[in-house]
Amino acid sequence: MTAQLNPRGDVAVLVPAAGAGVRLGPGGPKALRQIGGEPLLVHAVRRIAAAPSVHTIVVAAPPGDAEAVRELLAPIAELIVVAGGATRQESVAAALAAVPPGPEIVLVHDAARALTPAILVEAVATAIRSGEDAAIPVLPVVDTIKEVSTDGVVLGTVDRSALRAVQTPQGFRRSVLTAAHAAAVDPLTDDAGLVEKQGVRVACVPGSEYALKITRPFDLALAEHLLNAENSRNVATTSEPG
Ligand code: C5P
Repeated sequence: MTAQLNPRGDVAVLVPAAGAGVRLGPGGPKALRQIGGEPLLVHAVRRIAAAPSVHTIVVAAPPGDAEAVRELLAPIAELIVVAGGATRQESVAAALAAVPPGPEIVLVHDAARALTPAILVEAVATAIRSGEDAAIPVLPVVDTIKEVSTDGVVLGTVDRSALRAVQTPQGFRRSVLTAAHAAAVDPLTDDAGLVEKQGVRVACVPGSEYALKITRPFDLALAEHLLNAENSRNVATTSEPG
């Protein structure tokens, strides 16, 4: 069933999905790789569409695949599809330019974080609604982190207590993200990095293990396992006792 987004919602979610996914090995654009028989992008969009404040979703599709992505997502939710760019930042900028007037909160969410729960979308949006200009979901770093030279020798141990692993969706007041993209010079790997360069305060909210970034074959296998576990739980809670 096609999800109806909230016409009174105040959130637009941009989904950069135009990456090649080289680190996943051969098999086409990453966002179109499958888990549980459906592309990562479908899983990601379904979860975003389930977040009650979402008014608009804009997907940046692999260049050349925009029409196919539009058809793929039409049964999931009513959304806008644009052609992505050569870098993630260009893909986000293309999606941002397509947001219609209305939503004043813009979230940027990687299609590669396909199992991100709707509740995390709402938590980031809530931080912006309550006054932050920018907010990102983070998790503590559990491994010991070392700085290493190019020839593989340890230079030192980093104090991990102040470090956080950053996820998406990253949330912004719309005007803040628009200004940061207009001023962007070098491509960065996330949008919070752009607004940091503008001197904007970026708040943190607790992230989710389910928002893992599906980058390597191991992540794909883990995501498949998590999805199966979720589906079994849903079957168990929705079936009538026999
Ligand atoms: O390459 P990386 O894993 O950092 O990509 C993060 C997200 O950005 C992915 O969802 C990917 O599809 C997207 N991306 C994009 N356009 C690019 C490169 C990456 O939309 N040119």
